[in-house]
Amino acid sequence: MQRYFVTPEQFHPDTVVISGEDARHIAKVMRGKAGDKLIVSDGVSREALVEIAEIEMGEVTVSILEMLDMTHEPRIKITVAQSLPKGDKLETVIQKCTEIGAVGFLPFLSERTIVQYDERKESKRLERWRKICKEAAEQAHRNIVPEVHSPLSWKLLLKSFSGYDAVYFCYEKEEGLQLRSAAAPWLSGLPPQAQGKVMVVVGPEGGFSPEECRAAEEAGAVSVGLGRRILRCETAGMVAAACILYESGEMGGA
Ligand code: SAH
Repeated sequence: MQRYFVTPEQFHPDTVVISGEDARHIAKVMRGKAGDKLIVSDGVSREALVEIAEIEMGEVTVSILEMLDMTHEPRIKITVAQSLPKGDKLETVIQKCTEIGAVGFLPFLSERTIVQYDERKESKRLERWRKICKEAAEQAHRNIVPEVHSPLSWKLLLKSFSGYDAVYFCYEKEEGLQLRSAAAPWLSGLPPQAQGKVMVVVGPEGGFSPEECRAAEEAGAVSVGLGRRILRCETAGMVAAACILYESGEMGGA
């Protein structure tokens, strides 16, 4: 069934008013009519099975038939921190990691970041990343829309580590500890229903410097390898997120 995210303000006790691009999508692309059923979510805490009541210019009013349980979210909350890659690669990272189950994205600037980040264009790029994230969340039947932060400096990224239960710094030159050996014991030590807040940190095309690795470890991260192949910067976050969720039984079959 088609799913749409709305803001919490669009959710009323018995109805939801869908506006903007989503309303156009329902009217023009889906050729929706009164009585058609949809699922709407406020992206935070409420999700409902609804029925189209009225389609007007630019607005679709739906009646709530039944509140639904939000059961599609993993209990391990993964934020992907990614050094800004070139071109539209971050869009791929956001889209794919949203499908996999990440809850947040934190772009940052590091020593070997190639792209210039233009503050003036920031709002436009951020808007586009958020749109891609929302569409991927709808497509993947997520109950929430992951958060896309505006890019952080390296210093602020290090500071943010303290807000997580575990921070895995994916370091291509790490020959010791590997992600699985670091994450598996921690995940199996969590009480069965407990949530865990994890960050995976991924470098740019040119990788991280040894100094950056040291600074990350000092700030509380654990430097880990992802196996013997070198992954592209846009692949590493997806692989790390999928491996952690697999290990915690969130990819099904547990
Ligand atoms: N140019 C570098 C590779 C950078 S890969 C080189 O040739 O060595 C881009 C980023 O992906 C890295 O900074 C790291 O965060 C992640 N990555 C890729 N492969 C990895 C691996 N095998 N182990 C850990 N991290 C990896």
